[in-house]
Amino acid sequence: MIDHFAYDAVIVGSGPNGLAAAITLAQAGRSVLVLEAKDTIGGGTRTKELTLPGFWHDVCSAIHPLGIASSFFRSLPLSDYGLEWIHPEAPLAHPLDGGRAVIQERSIDATAERLGPDGPAYRKLFAPMVEHWQELLEEFLRPLPLPPKHPLVSSRFLLKFIQPARRLAESAFSGDPARALFAGMAAHSILPLEHIITSAYGLIIATLGHAVGWPMARGGTQRLSEALAGYLRALGGEIVTDHPVSSMGDVPSARDVLFDLTPRQLLCILGEQLPAGYRRQLERYRYGPGVFKVDFALDGPIPWQAPEVARSATAHLGGTLQEIACSERGVWRGEPQERPYVLLAQQSLYDDTRAPQGKHTVWAYCHVPHGSSVDMTSRIEAQIERFAPGFRDRILAKHSMSAVDMEAYNPNYIGGDIIGGVADFSQTFTRPALRWSPYTTPLKGIFICSSSTPPGGGVHGMCGYYAAQAVLRTRRDV
Ligand SMILES: Cc1cc2nc3c(=O)[nH]c(=O)nc-3n(C[C@H](O)[C@H](O)[C@H](O)COP(=O)(O)OP(=O)(O)OC[C@H]3O[C@@H](n4cnc5c(N)ncnc54)[C@H](O)[C@@H]3O)c2cc1C
Repeated sequence: MIDHFAYDAVIVGSGPNGLAAAITLAQAGRSVLVLEAKDTIGGGTRTKELTLPGFWHDVCSAIHPLGIASSFFRSLPLSDYGLEWIHPEAPLAHPLDGGRAVIQERSIDATAERLGPDGPAYRKLFAPMVEHWQELLEEFLRPLPLPPKHPLVSSRFLLKFIQPARRLAESAFSGDPARALFAGMAAHSILPLEHIITSAYGLIIATLGHAVGWPMARGGTQRLSEALAGYLRALGGEIVTDHPVSSMGDVPSARDVLFDLTPRQLLCILGEQLPAGYRRQLERYRYGPGVFKVDFALDGPIPWQAPEVARSATAHLGGTLQEIACSERGVWRGEPQERPYVLLAQQSLYDDTRAPQGKHTVWAYCHVPHGSSVDMTSRIEAQIERFAPGFRDRILAKHSMSAVDMEAYNPNYIGGDIIGGVADFSQTFTRPALRWSPYTTPLKGIFICSSSTPPGGGVHGMCGYYAAQAVLRTRRDV
């Protein structure tokens, strides 16, 4: 019997993973349709005038070490479709009290030189990782790395990767600057720094700072979604916006359906159709802390006390290792922090399309307890003011989003969790459920391709790419 389907594959959700899955299938000659609930594509990769006309703010993701390093994105002709990466002078700045700052430079030596007595230890830790960054990333950005593709490299670094970040920072370094720099990197994990594998997050993104930089997209992160969508359309793929899917009845007939959604939404859409055992696994899936974000329109650049903080588009505000560790532990316990660890981006310093001449945009967020509706605006402002006295006087307008607002903006951000579920040791390898191929479900033709699958959160498209590979494998095409 011949099955007649409208499409070979329908992808629900147009985040970077949904678009990556669609592109991979279209490249293999499949007819694909992407359905997006909102009126614009992109999920966590959109840019909007959130404050005042002419001020373009990245609503979610802003800085893209994983994007520029992603082997999938690197394989695509995205510059032909308008994507241009901008590299600030330095990947990262980390101001400290007293007008001091640590700067991660592209060069390991230049970074080490400014770390005083910790310079040699910094060089010793990162030089071999930077040398092998591609092999490391290949292991890190894929499903459970068994068997490892690069066993020698993996075994050489394994012990460092499975440590708590706090322990690694305290054993490798003796001074506040190097410890604080590493703590800020590792806190991207959204886990207490005492948890194992938090060191892996710090090591990977710091390594990428040296190896490929921490760039942003000229014109805003939206340009990345537009480039992916432009290339997908050139391959014959279709995209429909304003099309929320709440049951399979909303999906045109297709041989395969891939969900760029998290387990909770999959449960709502498929419900009883899913076998009970798998359903229970999805019900047990854990979501983590949320985020609170503020975008500012400024009438001038941030007046950093340490002027070199302006050499980077990204700054980590939170002071010392002890402070950052304490802040992340408190969030994990469910307590909104008085002095939160803040991730800040000042894109307009390096991209003049973001704001009117002489004016600036600032993107800042902190971690908050899951589902928190506490307004953190003034606490984020206070952290910026701490390292840049006079900052508040430059604010023309601001736009805040609590963890609850985040979920309303993007239903994938359950409770404000921006990485599709806790990425601790066990759930990194078993997201969204314990299966040999985590992208498959027990239902034939139903797949999951969001950041709730390996390798997890961030804009790299690898979850979508691997999910599409799983589809092609079940169709015996790869
Ligand atoms: C404030 C913030 C800052 C961040 N900063 C960075 C950063 O600097 N660098 C980085 O790499 N990552 C960053 N991230 C994380 C990154 O944005 C996500 O990890 C990434 O977008 C996940 O991609 P995805 O394709 O899995 O899902 P998403 O990007 O969340 O896309 C899912 C899509 O599915 C749609 N959808 C949901 N439900 C339905 C439905 N029922 N029917 C149809 N469509 C539906 C949504 O509208 C959305 O468009 C940040 C996120 C946030 C919120």
